[in-house]
Amino acid sequence: MSFTKLSRRGFVQILAAASAASSIPSWLSASTKIPARWDESVDVVIVGSGFAGLAAAYEAKKVGASVVILEKMRVAGGNSAINGGILAVPGSPLQKKLGIKDSPKLMMQDMIKAGNAMNHPEKVRALCNAALATYQWTVDELGVQYQDKNIKQEGGHTVPRSLFTINGSGSEIVNKELAALARLGVKPRLRTIMDEIIVNDAGRVVGVKVREGYRFPDKNSGKVKYIAARRGLVLCYGGFSADAQFRQIYDPKLTSKFDTTNQPGATSEGWRAAMSIGAHVIQADQIQILPQTSPDEKGFGIGFAWSGHVSMFGVWVDGTTGKRFVNELANRKVRSLAILERLNQGHECLAIGDAGTAASFAEIRPGMLKRQLERGVVFEFKTLDELAAKFRIPADALKQTIAEMNKSVETGKDPVGRPVNAKARKLETGPWYVARMSPKIHHCMGGLYTNEKAQVYHVDGHLIEGLYAAGEATGGVHGAVRLGSCGTADALINGRIAGQQAAAQKPWS
Ligand SMILES: Cc1cc2nc3c(=O)[nH]c(=O)nc-3n(C[C@H](O)[C@H](O)[C@H](O)COP(=O)(O)OP(=O)(O)OC[C@H]3O[C@@H](n4cnc5c(N)ncnc54)[C@H](O)[C@@H]3O)c2cc1C
Repeated sequence: MSFTKLSRRGFVQILAAASAASSIPSWLSASTKIPARWDESVDVVIVGSGFAGLAAAYEAKKVGASVVILEKMRVAGGNSAINGGILAVPGSPLQKKLGIKDSPKLMMQDMIKAGNAMNHPEKVRALCNAALATYQWTVDELGVQYQDKNIKQEGGHTVPRSLFTINGSGSEIVNKELAALARLGVKPRLRTIMDEIIVNDAGRVVGVKVREGYRFPDKNSGKVKYIAARRGLVLCYGGFSADAQFRQIYDPKLTSKFDTTNQPGATSEGWRAAMSIGAHVIQADQIQILPQTSPDEKGFGIGFAWSGHVSMFGVWVDGTTGKRFVNELANRKVRSLAILERLNQGHECLAIGDAGTAASFAEIRPGMLKRQLERGVVFEFKTLDELAAKFRIPADALKQTIAEMNKSVETGKDPVGRPVNAKARKLETGPWYVARMSPKIHHCMGGLYTNEKAQVYHVDGHLIEGLYAAGEATGGVHGAVRLGSCGTADALINGRIAGQQAAAQKPWS
């Protein structure tokens, strides 16, 4: 039997046989029978309460579908709630006000270049074309507020196009999504894990097996319940960056010695449930490491915000040589690899800025530098010599590096190829500030293979009836590298599409 012609049943049988031979983990052989009696029946079941799941629920409910949102953790929001609150929007009102020329086409070029052309072009095009309207939707329909002066040029973007939510966090969007849903009478069901997807003999998804009262990560907690999804099941279960065992299957070097920026529940249960019904997962080995996080705190933390700002208005320096070692605005993969290479040689990687850098940072993140200094993730020095002495950087080399950067402000030509921003200024006034950098595991670029209607493909090539997916659970949008601020757009845009499509599906019962 050819692999491309394999039926769902055939696929599950082969998996079961292989599992019995213990060459495949036992979870991959699961196949759940339709229960004699459903405990509950709704139009659309949504797994996950991040940007994507909440957007899907909102759209489905708005057109009159009954909706259930399942969330395995004790709080809603997933990674979306702790996200940095930046959203890529080509052609935003703020760009227009500041005279920044941009277009969906330019953003698409940036995403595909960074993604090493592994992105599926039609998915990228759809995202870039919908970004402005989706931003407007968050403002008009959800009431999300954005900062009205700040716009960021994230690494890999050709122009500044990343808008900040008012509180500099994804929680602004999640909270507004939750409030909009509450107005429609929908609340996520917390501590409810989706364990298995139930498929009928025709290969249509008809419901899920869940456990209510689940206590992450206790595999034996909770009470089993069967929920029928009459019109559709929408998978928005996010990525698995916090699942050290699972991520090493795809990229063995990502051992548990790496910290992650993700919430603890960014684990693989949903991925495994989808795989076990033959859903096609692509590019799962493309796992992003965020370059500018701090080793002086756990998780995403707050140190990254300084190092990220420095990537535009300061210098990243190798502590042993005193020299810049990478274009600070290159994409995340390039920067992370450059840092890891140096850390492996025992060199520190440092993000250095002066009083001017601190002043422009304070405009975007008022009070943040004070918090960073208090937490011990950014360090202050009166002079560059003091900074060099503390971090054992050769002072002359460091001064030379800074002189070269200052020259680039005049010439417009940067020695490491960083685009010279119109707002770029020289580094010359103390106090000086520095943060250490050490990359952390951040984002799963791969995931379920979907079409433009957010329908999920089976490994044998057909679309799985009744199954939709969006956000970090899916692959194909970002390719090898997700550009900063494109994750929020992806989850919101495709979450909305998935909800609309699932609600419009003919019910199976
Ligand atoms: C710290 C951090 C900062 C970031 N900052 C930015 C940024 O500023 N801009 C940007 O564009 N992107 C950013 N990203 C990426 C972006 O936040 C994610 O791509 C986006 O939040 C993904 O949304 P989602 O809805 O797909 O998944 P999530 O928000 O992760 O939601 C998935 C939810 O599903 C739940 N779940 C998983 N499995 C199950 C199951 N079996 N049953 C029930 N529930 C389940 C999880 O607990 C989780 O709550 C950041 C990511 C992180 C980690």
